[in-house]
Amino acid sequence: MLFQGKSLSAQLLDDGIVEFKFDAQGSVNKFDQATFKEYIAVVDAIKNCSEAKGVLVTSGKSTFIVGADITEFLEIFKKPEAELVPWIKQGSDVFDAFEDIALPTVVAINGFALGGGCEMTLACDYRVADSSCSIGLPEVKLGLMPGFGGTVRLPRVIGADNAIEWMSTGKAYKAEQAMAAGLLDAVVAPEHLREAALKMLQQAIAGKLDWRTKRQAKLLPLTLSPTETIMTFNTCKGMIAAKAGKHYPAPMTMVKTIEAAAGLDRAGAMALENAGFATLAKTDAATAQIGLFMADQVVKGKAKKASKQATKVVDKAAVLGAGIMGGGIAYQSAYTGTPIVMKDINDQALELGLSTAAGILTKQVDRGRLSAKKMASVLNNITPALSYDSMQGVDVVVEAVVENPKVKAMVLAEVESHVGEDTIVTSNTSTISIDLLAESVKRKDKFCGMHFFNPVNKMPLVEVIRGKETSDETVAAVVAYAAKMGKSPIVVNDCPGFYINRVLFPYFAAFSYLLLEGADFTAVDKVMEKQFGWPMGPAHLLDVIGIDTADHCTGVMSAGFPSRMGKIDNDPVSALYNNQRLGQKNGKGFYDYGKDKRGRPTKVAAQAAYEVIASVEQKDFSQDEIIARLMIPMVNEVVRCLEEGVVDTAAEADMGLIYGLGFPPFRGGAIRYLETLGLDNFIAMADKYAHLGEIYQVTDGMRAMAASGQSYFT
Ligand code: NAD
Repeated sequence: MLFQGKSLSAQLLDDGIVEFKFDAQGSVNKFDQATFKEYIAVVDAIKNCSEAKGVLVTSGKSTFIVGADITEFLEIFKKPEAELVPWIKQGSDVFDAFEDIALPTVVAINGFALGGGCEMTLACDYRVADSSCSIGLPEVKLGLMPGFGGTVRLPRVIGADNAIEWMSTGKAYKAEQAMAAGLLDAVVAPEHLREAALKMLQQAIAGKLDWRTKRQAKLLPLTLSPTETIMTFNTCKGMIAAKAGKHYPAPMTMVKTIEAAAGLDRAGAMALENAGFATLAKTDAATAQIGLFMADQVVKGKAKKASKQATKVVDKAAVLGAGIMGGGIAYQSAYTGTPIVMKDINDQALELGLSTAAGILTKQVDRGRLSAKKMASVLNNITPALSYDSMQGVDVVVEAVVENPKVKAMVLAEVESHVGEDTIVTSNTSTISIDLLAESVKRKDKFCGMHFFNPVNKMPLVEVIRGKETSDETVAAVVAYAAKMGKSPIVVNDCPGFYINRVLFPYFAAFSYLLLEGADFTAVDKVMEKQFGWPMGPAHLLDVIGIDTADHCTGVMSAGFPSRMGKIDNDPVSALYNNQRLGQKNGKGFYDYGKDKRGRPTKVAAQAAYEVIASVEQKDFSQDEIIARLMIPMVNEVVRCLEEGVVDTAAEADMGLIYGLGFPPFRGGAIRYLETLGLDNFIAMADKYAHLGEIYQVTDGMRAMAASGQSYFT
């Protein structure tokens, strides 16, 4: 054995072949600080081995290397930029040192080779993969660019335009695609991987493969003519500017780095990569996106734990109500493999529910993403019903009938008497207290909220609402069912609006106040979309939710939190509702909705809306003021939810907003936004508006956090 560490080993086999194996103890293979130390030792060991003739890089795991250890990033990235450059250079130097070993190197790639894993393969002379391989450089998804030579080597191996496409989308490619792009030298069946890679290495050792020339191409400037250079980079920059936009600086920094490095050798190009990486590591977007990755791990980890703990496995489900939500829930359950009974009170509704599911499936079949056979099997998984007869053996019921407490109370009591003793009953209510609904069921421990978002097939969030008497087993089983449906469940405690609506409605209230002071709703929408980054501004979002639904929710919130969210005099949302401007559902809300000559949807600010919103004289507000006035109430309410334990952790609070509301990912969620601004700065900003009402007043808890310099994420 030349070297044996906790993650890496190097062993001299027959014929002078050194096997450099990644096989981390108790973990997937990844590049963390400890692995880097071992990597340096392996390179030294190979260099010092006089009998070595070639190096075979392998993985002892079912997957090659998943990338760098992202959990180390945020702490390291706190260093000043000037210190980050030498830090990342230390890393890229190890890859260079490995690449410079004066022996041929061949890597055998199985499963994932992502980020640093892909960069490891790029530092080798030949890449042989098995058909399970999935390879790529996803760093842009974290607001970064590759930092271990990816921007230097990939363009020199597969061409600058291909490499930019790979790195700016961050996509993972299948073995065949990577072979076609020129990244891989061979693709074989998994059982032949080692033998094929060994054979290639033996040929290189025997001089039958010219590994030196192949390696040399990675050490020299890019082979592009001046015209090709201009064409390639200008086209790519134009596309990236249009697609990524100003809020996501990583892809543009990455392309500019490759462009500047095009005429340089490896050392020059690598110095630019080191600098570009360090710059991106210090951006707020990178902090937010890395934070999101970790928050997603928290949500996934909790769902996984619940699946293990759940004593009840959901093999069969039922949904009551075949409306917008019931139809969507039936589709999602059936599509992800849990058969579901869909019950309504009339045939027409059932037909509508089934046609909703069929419509989603047909679109996928038309796009070639689904076979007709799978479509048929999904539809077969949905059993339409007008009675409770087919409810036998159902593990979970999701009630999704009309939002009326009396109807729901009746339906919940009725269904409970038709299902087994251990069937869990849930409600998809958006506004009615779970504890109130629990009064209509006998088995209160087996009852909770299961709040999906519209459209169910697209929105990832499910709020699992724990009532006072809901048991842990019930919560675990419902979380596991939501995860099985491909959703991201977040457990919240019962309160008016639960978590998402509770933090959304103070934001809407702030919007109403701003309109009453003379702000133009189109100007507010523009700022919140273009500057803040929301997928739609508040006026558009209210139209999409439905002005009637929003008006109803406002009533619920004001009853729940009268001092903070009391009814607003002359609320523009109520005014629109009273004038039958219900939003998208009847084609008129803040905006008028229609179709152009080609049948494409149109949206025009409605003159009638301006007339209905009887406001004072129009007034201009600065971008900063609009953002502050709308976002302070939302952030304050998220903090209150954390302090009251409505939601467990800052990670889940942020993920909930991303998954449930489309909070701009580059901002990472409300708490990440708060911490990026800095608690002291936020408090100073909020105090300026404190006279506007309680929604602007920060909690004592936040002041204490700021005074002690604490973070919500620890
Ligand atoms: P919907 O009006 O589209 O559908 C309700 C369905 O329930 C209708 O098909 C109706 O025939 C059926 N129904 C009424 N009484 C019934 C009974 N006794 N038994 C069986 N079916 C019965 O409503 P929706 O938008 O799908 O909303 C359903 C629930 O989901 C509501 O509680 C709503 O608050 C909640 N929700 C809605 C949304 C949304 O955006 N639409 C989002 C989240 C949650």
